[in-house]
This record gives sequence, C-alpha cells and structure tokens, in this order.
Amino acid sequence: MLVLMDHHATEDHCTGVEDAIRALGYQPVRVPGAGRIAICVTGNKDRVSAPSLERLDGVLSVVHVTKPYKLVSREVTESDTTVAVGDAVFGGPEPVIIAGPCSVETEARTLAIARAVKAAGATVFRAGAYKPRTNPYSFQGLGAEGLHTLHAVREETGLPVVTEVLDAESADLVEETCDIMQVGARNMQNYTLLRRLGRARKPVLLKRGLCATVDEWLQAAEYLLAEGNEDVILCERGVRTYNQHARNTLDLNVIPLIRRLSHLPVIVDPSHGVGQRERVRPMARAALACGAQGLIIEAHTDPNTAYSDGSQTVTVETLEGVVRDQEILASLEVL
Ligand code: PEP
Ligand code: MN
Repeated sequence: MLVLMDHHATEDHCTGVEDAIRALGYQPVRVPGAGRIAICVTGNKDRVSAPSLERLDGVLSVVHVTKPYKLVSREVTESDTTVAVGDAVFGGPEPVIIAGPCSVETEARTLAIARAVKAAGATVFRAGAYKPRTNPYSFQGLGAEGLHTLHAVREETGLPVVTEVLDAESADLVEETCDIMQVGARNMQNYTLLRRLGRARKPVLLKRGLCATVDEWLQAAEYLLAEGNEDVILCERGVRTYNQHARNTLDLNVIPLIRRLSHLPVIVDPSHGVGQRERVRPMARAALACGAQGLIIEAHTDPNTAYSDGSQTVTVETLEGVVRDQEILASLEVL
C-alpha cells in the first residue's frame, strides 16, 4: 500500500501518517517525488486494509500496490531513477558503457587495459578481484591485492570501478575500494548479502540470477531498497535454458518489461549472455536497440591470455565498434 500525500502536506502530516502505519504493525518508507511525497507501507504479508489512513490530515489518497515488490516498482516511483558515478549516469540520457577484463590481472596489465578501454569510450571499468568460479581449482581472483590494483586504476585513469562482492566478509573492503558493488548472478538470492549491501553507501549492480524470474529479480532488488540503498542498477546477463549453442540465453525481452515495471536503470551483459566473443557486439547492439541503459562488456588488450573468460572477451577494437554502434543508435532517435 502507498499513501500519497497532498502537495500541501507538512512534515507533521507525514510523521502523523508514519506513526499511524507503525501503530498498525508495519514499517513506513518515505518516497520523495518530484511534486509530492508518498509513504510506502512495508512489512505486510497480505493486502493491508486501513481505511483510517485515508482520513489522516495531509493524505491525498491510498493506492494498493499490486506487485510483490514495492520500492522498486513504477507504481511507487514514476520517474526513472538515475545513479551517477564519475562521469557515468545510469538511467540518464545516454547508455553507460562499462568495460574491462573478467578478472583483475597484474597491475601493469590491468592498468594497460583500463587506459585502452577508456580511450575506446568506456566510462566505467570492470574487473573481478573475487571470482565465483564453477570449478574450485579454477583461478579464484587476486582478492585484496586485486582491490589495490583497482584503486590504482581509478587513481590513474579517473574511471570509476565496479567489482563483485562475493560474501559479507569481504564486503567492507570492497565497499571502501570500489565505486559500484556487483552482486553476481550466483548471489542474487543471497539475502544476507543483499541486506548487507542495502546498508552500504555505494551503488549496487544487481545481476539477474541464473534461473531467476523477473519477480524474483525485482524482489532481490527490493531487499536493497528496503534497507535504504536506492542506488541500484539491474543487469540482465542471460539465463540457463536448454540451448547448447551459447553459454546462456540472453533474455533481451525482459528489458522493455523491466523498464515498464521498475524505475531502476537496467543494463545488459552480452559477454556472459552469449559466452563467445564473436557474438558480443551484435548482442550489445540488440540490447541497446531494445532499451538497455548501458552495457557491461569483458574487454582485454590480449583476450586470448585473459586470466578468466577469455573466449567471451572482446578486443579493444571490438569495444570501439560497440561504442560506435551506440552513437549511431542514439542518433536514430528511436529509443
Ligand atoms: C562477471 O561479471 O565476471 C561474472 C562472474 O558475472 P555473472 O555473475 O553474471 O556470472
Ligand atoms: Mn566473467
């Protein structure tokens, strides 16, 4: 349920409504809008029936939210949320291109890649210091040393960095070092981690789970907003289907759906979506054409020697092509 306040509602009117919601056994969450304040009722399992709220001073109307998620829903916040990090604005007028290797590598190599992807037009750098690998014997990431390298990347290039937070133990360190905290597909339903990152002071990039429905994905995002972190960026990265011709099935038809259901920015990861470098650029183009507000792409100066995911990692030249495609699509003014 959402209590819409009148344009002339005062602070006292708002606190009166919040007290009344608490007295009913629920938690109020204030959602400031462009023209008016809304107060969301959270913590209810079933539909709330509270006619008394409608009669309180300053209340314009009471709206029932029809979805299992609230704070992430367009029903609660109509206008697009923007998340600004460095020169990049997710949810702004231009799509944001994030690029970099799958994993943080040696400092010299990582810096060389960062300089190259910046020159190619990327405005955010990606690289994992903590890697969630299917095989326990595969390279697991450089950990704290990798975070140190990401710090050096930001210092030298000015690019903000996004990196994965694998668990609550490393969350403090990652929060201190990076600009955007990534929740990987395998952790999308790790609710203790989501609650921890909901209390973080850095934006969160929330990847869609390997088999997650849109409702599950948006409810995972709801955990972050419910704890107070409103800077959430959603990322479609492909889901597991019966197909054997790609690593995953990039589910682009969720993009216009998410844009309708939620005010949060949504970007696409074609690298993990298809798993083959030849198909990354066409799928990046398709993602932008259907309304993705950004891309996260694995790119490297020497993809064949990448520490992980080399076969889906594009060259810097291909990344330049993606940036050109983005400029051409923007000029078509169809999006
Ligand atoms: C990654 O971005 O390197 C990664 C591991 O992604 P995902 O969680 O989508 O598999
Ligand atoms: Mn990867």
